[in-house]
Amino acid sequence: MNIEKFQESMYKLIVETSTKLPKDVRRAIKAAAERENAGTRSAMSLATITNNIKMADEQVSPICQDTGLPTFKIKTPVGANQIQMKAAIQHAIALATKDGKLRPNSVDSLTGENSGDNLGGGTPVIKFEQWEKDYIDVRLILKGGGCENKNIQYSLPCELEGLGRAGRDLDGIRKCIMHSVYQAQGQGCSAGFIGVGIGGDRSSGYDLAKEQLFRSNDDVNPNEDLRKLEEYIMENANKLGIGTMGFGGETTLLGCKIGVMNRIPASFFVSVAYNCWAFRRLGVNVHPETGEIIDWMYQEGEMIDFRQDQTLAAQETAAASEGVITLQAPITEEQIRSLKVGDVVQINGMMYTGRDAIHKYLSTNDSPVDLNGQVIYHCGPVMLKDEEGKWRVKAAGPTTSIREEPYQGDIMKKFGIRAVIGKGGMGPKTLAALQEHGGVYLNAIGGAAQYYADCIKSVEGVDLMQFGIPEAMWHLKVEGFTAVVTMDSHGNSLHADVDKSSLEKLAKFKEPVFK
Ligand code: SF4
Repeated sequence: MNIEKFQESMYKLIVETSTKLPKDVRRAIKAAAERENAGTRSAMSLATITNNIKMADEQVSPICQDTGLPTFKIKTPVGANQIQMKAAIQHAIALATKDGKLRPNSVDSLTGENSGDNLGGGTPVIKFEQWEKDYIDVRLILKGGGCENKNIQYSLPCELEGLGRAGRDLDGIRKCIMHSVYQAQGQGCSAGFIGVGIGGDRSSGYDLAKEQLFRSNDDVNPNEDLRKLEEYIMENANKLGIGTMGFGGETTLLGCKIGVMNRIPASFFVSVAYNCWAFRRLGVNVHPETGEIIDWMYQEGEMIDFRQDQTLAAQETAAASEGVITLQAPITEEQIRSLKVGDVVQINGMMYTGRDAIHKYLSTNDSPVDLNGQVIYHCGPVMLKDEEGKWRVKAAGPTTSIREEPYQGDIMKKFGIRAVIGKGGMGPKTLAALQEHGGVYLNAIGGAAQYYADCIKSVEGVDLMQFGIPEAMWHLKVEGFTAVVTMDSHGNSLHADVDKSSLEKLAKFKEPVFK
């Protein structure tokens, strides 16, 4: 095989996967955006998402800043040199990282050190299989950490919150899948897609679940029972009212694909792989001699170009202006205490990024900058230096906030921070600190990495670079940075409200449906 050409083909696949959503995913997102009632927080979120897809298309930039764990599934004709192919894929990954198409995302599990090029033990994941055909089938998924953390595995029989006993039958499986959507609570950036694996052991069950994510969202399950179950889940999971980002709303789930394999009599696992709206999976067929791409997969059906879509463009404009409160950082306690859950705010001025390493550091050290009245953004951006050596933001969406729960409240009080921005909400300790100190938690739109990168007008500085690019403290000057108040200084949490109401709705699905 011409291995240089194969490497080039893999580079193209990586860039295309990272920057352009497949057609089936676009159609599902468009249908959801049209379903949501105008003027709701979910409609605003979906409008931001479609705007973000449009920007990623235009700029050939990552759709979301979280590259996730690149996973390749490859089928080769007998005789293909898998060792050479693996090395070529690794080179292509390193190059795409250097070019800012992927974020350096591979860290040493013990030291936390970032390898800088997305290579390291277990990354990327490359799985080979032989087949009888005479071409190579390569599929790639970039599945982010936010949604990966929402995967769940059930061992039947079990007791499920709201649903009672789930037995070892189709109805028990139904309950598990409904529960998996409830427990995600829109975190991991809903509206999302789920792949379900029935059977296997703990590891092969999850593999089967992830395998389902490679199916087209529009296919029909050839197994009649599973087809009915997929349709049932799509119809009913959206009645839980969790909505985009967990803000409440009509659309929580965009796709559900279920696969089955045998199990041993003692085990009965139902494994659910949850994927966010930024469902980046593509595939190519490659010539085994020339290494060139023969064709691209997932190309069936209508292509939605969000740049051309006037209805959604009108929704975006409406969403951008309706009842938005402008905040200028630094922010006073009085301004913060006037905000309440559900308010949509636009921030101008400075904000400072902080993820896990920064929060741990600030808990025992002084801050390198004065954070009094300031805003902390839970974000690990994709950054590149331009020709003049200035840092440029390539992607900058929010990361999952709950990881900072042990530190957040104390750090806000210690440094006088007034607002934290992230996604997915935080816990009771932070809520109590917001009330005591006068602070708010703002939920940004998860995955809207291009939209938020565009709101960042300049990079004013960076501290604590020893933690690596995603974990450093970036000083960002922003304009019109939109987010929703989901936890306020009066003890209210939209996350807790949606959790409570969706649990009540979930309980309506307790009675058996599949005998
Ligand atoms: S959209 Fe959300 S869950 Fe998906 S990769 Fe981005 S941050 Fe992670």
